[in-house]
Amino acid sequence: MIKIEAKKKENGQIECTYEVGLECVNCGMTVDAEEYTSGTCSDCNEPWDEKRHTAIYVTSIPMQGQSS
Ligand SMILES: [Zn+2]
Repeated sequence: MIKIEAKKKENGQIECTYEVGLECVNCGMTVDAEEYTSGTCSDCNEPWDEKRHTAIYVTSIPMQGQSS
């Protein structure tokens, strides 16, 4: 699973933390965070297909230190 950390955008909108589960379309191995960033599967050295999302888990973890 790849955890995308919550962040605050420049317009003040909060983007919640969420996790994505991806599999390489070529070899079926799980795409890790490093491969997600690079766009290339390190197991078979082929670009994994971003269209093949196997699961998206959205969590509603709020940002720490919110004052309002
Ligand atoms: Zn692969």
